[in-house]
Amino acid sequence: MASSLERGGNPPAGGAHRLERDVFQQLIETAPDALVVIDRLGRIVLVNAQTERLFGYDRQDLLGQSIEILVPSRFRAQHSLHRAGYFKTPRARAMGSGLELWGLKSDGTEFPVEISLAPLETEDGVLISSAIRDVSERKRAEAEVRLASDRLLSAVESIQDMLALYDAEHRVVLCNSAFRSLFARGVDGAIVGRTFEEILDGSLRAGLFELGGESVEAFRKRCLRYHTNPVGVLELKTTDGRALRLTNRRTLEGGIVSTIWDITEDVRKEEELQKARALAEAASSAKSEFLSSMSHELRTPLNSILGFAQLLQRDKKSPLTERQLERLEHVLKGGEHLLRLIDDILDLSRIEAGRVTTSIERVRVAEVLAEVKTTLAPMASRAGITLVVAAVPEQASEVMADRTRFAQILINYGSNAIKYGRPGGTAALEVHVRDGNTVRVSVRDDGIGIPLEHQSRIFEPFQRAGQETGPIEGTGIGLTITKRLAELMGGSVGFESVPDEGSEFWIDLPRPVEVPESDAPSATPSSGAPSPLATEGPSYRVVYIEDNPSNIAFMRELMADFDRVELVTVPTAEVGIEVVRDTQPHVVIMDINLPGMSGYEATKKLREWPETKHIPVIALSAAAMVGDRSRVADAGFYRYLTKPVRVSELMETLEALFESNRPA
Ligand code: ADP
Repeated sequence: MASSLERGGNPPAGGAHRLERDVFQQLIETAPDALVVIDRLGRIVLVNAQTERLFGYDRQDLLGQSIEILVPSRFRAQHSLHRAGYFKTPRARAMGSGLELWGLKSDGTEFPVEISLAPLETEDGVLISSAIRDVSERKRAEAEVRLASDRLLSAVESIQDMLALYDAEHRVVLCNSAFRSLFARGVDGAIVGRTFEEILDGSLRAGLFELGGESVEAFRKRCLRYHTNPVGVLELKTTDGRALRLTNRRTLEGGIVSTIWDITEDVRKEEELQKARALAEAASSAKSEFLSSMSHELRTPLNSILGFAQLLQRDKKSPLTERQLERLEHVLKGGEHLLRLIDDILDLSRIEAGRVTTSIERVRVAEVLAEVKTTLAPMASRAGITLVVAAVPEQASEVMADRTRFAQILINYGSNAIKYGRPGGTAALEVHVRDGNTVRVSVRDDGIGIPLEHQSRIFEPFQRAGQETGPIEGTGIGLTITKRLAELMGGSVGFESVPDEGSEFWIDLPRPVEVPESDAPSATPSSGAPSPLATEGPSYRVVYIEDNPSNIAFMRELMADFDRVELVTVPTAEVGIEVVRDTQPHVVIMDINLPGMSGYEATKKLREWPETKHIPVIALSAAAMVGDRSRVADAGFYRYLTKPVRVSELMETLEALFESNRPA
């Protein structure tokens, strides 16, 4: 028992050695690193399985060979020197010494290695054991990381704007040289690691910023607040006149990416643009002012000419002779032509200045055609031309247009068809469905046509297509206005013309998206009722507020024809509104351009006062500018008439008013 115990407790010495050897053998064989042991002469005395795998040799081929077999040839000479040196003072050296070492495989390929060395004392003298590790994978990974970071750095560097990345403690992690040389110019030494606050203070000390009256403390606070709580952008000025725009964005790690743009150029351009815009606006408003006052200046004397000429024409008390009436006709025609010219030039310049607005709505084509026909009928009958309005096809019953401008275009085409038509001829207004979405309204005549050589420029301003010296009056602007207006409404124009045979001018307009069932055309209003201004019955009081003596004289004479109208004239708005309040007239006729209070203001006052707010005010103004028209609605006029007064228009307006407001 004792001996067996002894045996069990203390195995024989020879067995213990074997066990140790086995364990060591296996440790060596299973080690993850290649283990190579050499003697003083550099001969390999031991290798493990990993050495065979790593270098691609059988261990038989290695044992006894010089260790340099595993070293690339260019390092061999150096390697053997090192080895000799090492044997003189052998000491352990760990891996990761920072040396760039290379191994050589049996197939000639090289690979990066890390090596640890240790001297082994043996009975046969000192041996050296080396553990060799293949670090190709790690090197590749490191190279990739380095490449990615180099790319990032060079991208950041190549940005012309200033860029800095801060960590969660507001310390710079990365920045480019644009940032360094401007924004961080007050910082000495490295920028990376500095806080935003340090950089800001450095820049403040270096006098980088133009504070523009703000205290340093307030400026600092504003910048620091923006840095930690970036909302919107932070705009800063430098003392050398630059404008900087700073934008901070939070990163996922809680840091901040700060981009600073030099927007000096943009700011300068924007300022220049604003100046240019202001100049252009001033010039354009000067032009419209000029046009407005020119129109006023020209229309005021025209007003007298046309007004008194019409009075002479209608004078029943001392009628003119045939000869005189004939001459007067010329005065009127000349005056009307001048008026049209002024109106056309004004209209065109307003369109060109972009001051014409259109209000596009569903418009019933038949209604507009009826209106146009009524307007053109007197002119057509004077010229001996038959005006025909063709039936409107069901699918073309409505278009999208500005009703007034649409009518203006057709009146323009129509009056050309009459002007350039021949007595006994026809002018026809026709409507066609073009494609599913477009309606074409055309005016066809069998008149003189347009010479071929003039056809290409017919829509250009002041082109009269050979009519410059002819007897037919015109300005050459009508078609230009027509084209621009059509385009403003989203439509287009065109024409076909055969010299000596006739012309057809058209406008194409879009149809409304879905066309409802067409209604019956509206009935034309009957005008058979006797005029309420007939000589019998109660009288109507009219207050006329006007400062121009010849306009007052004109209105007096006009009203003198009507025994039932009592006309009160007042030269200023201030007095005029008092008179209106006191005398309670049936109608007020208001000039707009008055000394002191304007016609607009006066009318507004009348609309406000309870005693006068029911009294209709007819505005009479020489200014036919768009701006004026847009104020009409505000002022609350009953009707807005432009001078020179069209007598029939004024009379119709008055008659309609008196009709609805018969005195007791
Ligand atoms: P205006 O009639 O005032 O001269 P427009 O711009 O309306 O100016 O027309 C330009 C020119 O086109 C006219 O002068 C005329 O020569 C020619 N024109 C226009 N419409 C017709 C037409 N229906 N028939 C023949 N010529 C026309």
